[in-house]
Order: sequence, then structure tokens, then C-alpha cells
Amino acid sequence: MYVKSLTLKGFKSFASATHLRLEPGITCIVGPNGSGKSNVVDALAWVMGEQGAKSLRGGKMEDVIFAGTAGRAPLGRAEVALTIDNTDGALPIDYTEVTIARTMFRNGGSDYSINGTPCRLLDIQELLSDSGIGREMHVIVGQGQLDTVLRATPEERRGFIEEAAGVLKHRKRKERALRK
Ligand code: ATP
Ligand code: MG
Repeated sequence: MYVKSLTLKGFKSFASATHLRLEPGITCIVGPNGSGKSNVVDALAWVMGEQGAKSLRGGKMEDVIFAGTAGRAPLGRAEVALTIDNTDGALPIDYTEVTIARTMFRNGGSDYSINGTPCRLLDIQELLSDSGIGREMHVIVGQGQLDTVLRATPEERRGFIEEAAGVLKHRKRKERALRK
């Protein structure tokens, strides 16, 4: 499983449709300060269902919609589509390629789809969670978070590793069972 492509339209600084095609392995995004590198990562988190404006480095959710520049009017919606290669079947769905898309309008909520079929946010979260990606799985380490990890106590650090490895949910279940 790997990210095949990411398409942004009206998302933060990406006013025009921008298509990023990725290959397996490591991808680096380079560019001057303020050129939109972190916005690409925000788009990735957002399309996978991120609901926190702060995690997306904004004050409110509408801040992900292109707000306009001196030469260009603001847009009414943000759209991001993420295509994942699923030939190894890591995602529990019968497609070798899975496209998750999210659209948000200025006047309100978000629309989600999986391979073009409208769905709920929950469907996207469930699709991603068993494969170890998606929200709160520590797949996205933000610029400041590295510091948090480095400053953490050994116990806290162990917590991060357990969560990433998928051990934490079993530990919590065990603790619940022992309490009964
Ligand atoms: P650095 O190297 O400093 O980390 P970066 O390449 O990660 O920079 P980003 O944080 O991705 O840069 O992009 C910041 C730019 O995105 C700013 O110029 C900001 O004005 C612009 N931006 C953020 N949200 C919007 C929006 N809703 N509409 C238009 N532009 C936006
Ligand atoms: Mg940045």
C-alpha cells in the first residue's frame, strides 16, 4: 500500500487544481518558506478525516478553503482526493486502487466519497483504521511534534510506540477486562 496521488483544489494556498503523482518509497517536498509544503501534509490529514482546525494549523475549519490573494478572489470550496495503491489488499476493500475524497463548502459541512460513491466520515475512518493509517495513528509527525517526542519521559515515549504499533488498544482492553 502506498499513496499514488494527491489532488488539491481550493485547499489552502492551492487555488488551482494541483495533482501530485507519487511513487513507492520516500518522497521529499522541497521549497522556500511559505510555499505550501506543510499545506500538502495538511491536505493529507484533512482528506483522511481530520476534524480539528488546530491540527490543520487554522483557527476554524473553513480556513482550509482558499482565502484569496491580492490577484485572486477567494473560493467557495476546498476539495482533496487521495489515491492509495491497494494491490496488496492492506485496505479491507475489493479494489486495487482506492480514492478517498473530501469536499468542504464555506457554508458548512463536508462531503466524503470512496471511489466516487458518497459515504460518511465514519466509513473512511473504518476503512483506514485497521491498516494503521488515519487519525491519531502517529502517521503524521508535525514540525513541533518531534520536540514533544524528544522531550517525553520514557513512559510517554513507550506510549507513542505502543500506539503506533497498535498495542495500546489491546492494553486498554486488557485493563478494562482486569478491572471487572
Ligand atoms: P515553511 O518552510 O515555513 O514550513 P511551508 O512551505 O510549509 O513553509 P505552508 O505553511 O504550507 O508553507 O504555507 C503557508 C502559506 O499558505 C502562507 O503563505 C499562507 O498564506 C498560505 N495559506 C494558508 N491557508 C490559506 C488559505 N486558506 N488561503 C490562501 N492561502 C493560504
Ligand atoms: Mg512548513
